[in-house]
Amino acid sequence: MKKRVLVIGGAGYIGSHMVLALQDAGYAVVVFDNLSRGFADAVGAVPLVEGDLRSPANLDACFSAGRFDLVMHFAALAYVGESVAHPELYYQNNVIGTLNLLAAMRKYRVNRIVFSSSCATYGEPEIVPIAESHSQRPINPYGRTKLIIEEALRDYSAAYAFQSISLRYFNAAGCDPKGRLGERHDPETHLIPLVLAEALRVRTGNAPEKTTLKVFGDDFSTQDGSCVRDYIHVADLCRAHLLAAERLFADKSVGCEFFNLANGSGFSVFDVINVCREITGQPINYQLVSRRAGDPAVLVGTADKAAEVLGWKPEIITLAEIVETHWRWICGDK
Ligand code: UDP
Repeated sequence: MKKRVLVIGGAGYIGSHMVLALQDAGYAVVVFDNLSRGFADAVGAVPLVEGDLRSPANLDACFSAGRFDLVMHFAALAYVGESVAHPELYYQNNVIGTLNLLAAMRKYRVNRIVFSSSCATYGEPEIVPIAESHSQRPINPYGRTKLIIEEALRDYSAAYAFQSISLRYFNAAGCDPKGRLGERHDPETHLIPLVLAEALRVRTGNAPEKTTLKVFGDDFSTQDGSCVRDYIHVADLCRAHLLAAERLFADKSVGCEFFNLANGSGFSVFDVINVCREITGQPINYQLVSRRAGDPAVLVGTADKAAEVLGWKPEIITLAEIVETHWRWICGDK
């Protein structure tokens, strides 16, 4: 019988790519999503339970309607700047919502979960690249909400036999290489989609000098002054989740585990703009503005532990390849 996976937040960017990956791998999938940031059409033909994690009644309705072998939890608010301005939203959705989910899992006796954590749990790195053993001192509410859940999962595994794998993503980027799905956010705040939207704007005949693309700060202590991030392709992230699920199903995991999902190389905001210029052939202009609240200067990780334990290594590793999958998607080229 097919294993059944409940994908919380399956209508969002990473969740919807995961739904495809799970189907490709032969799992039966159900999505639970409140559609506040996701899109119903991204789920395809998979059953979609529209519900909100802040509502235990919505969760009851979902869990009582089907048997699940494992939960993957992608549903979180994930904008650093917004989390600084509206922390209550973040604590309500990301912390209270997830605790409600864990309560429903206990009630319906589902004890395996793959949790989307984040490199934002580390804060300003003391050592780069960041390994899982690095201290976790988040510098924004978003990172703190993710860390609180990691700690809850540790306690739930000790007390309630939860089997969890938390995957700490660095900067998820790119679109399905087969062109079936893409990165969509409303509002869009992420760098690569915004830079490529600017390239598309210019390609369709608009004046490059009328750009609204912003670079948040060139006064960080990095080589060119802009922030450095580790971009990891969404298809590689999904492969890691499949390996994590297999590990949980094989009972190989030890209660509660944490893995970085990173590429191991850092690219500055200006590097991203330059690569996007090369891939699109468009002259991408920008406005330099002050720093965005909550942004660490450098976030680059090592995924050696995921390589060793999960057998995972990113396959789409150059920034050009990552950008290219997104450019093809927004240009409508399959
Ligand atoms: N960034 C920027 N302009 C934008 C959006 C992002 O300069 O319009 C910078 C941001 O400050 C960060 C990097 O690009 O240093 C990546 O930001 P993004 O929001 O994509 O991901 P985050 O690192 O916040 O998860």
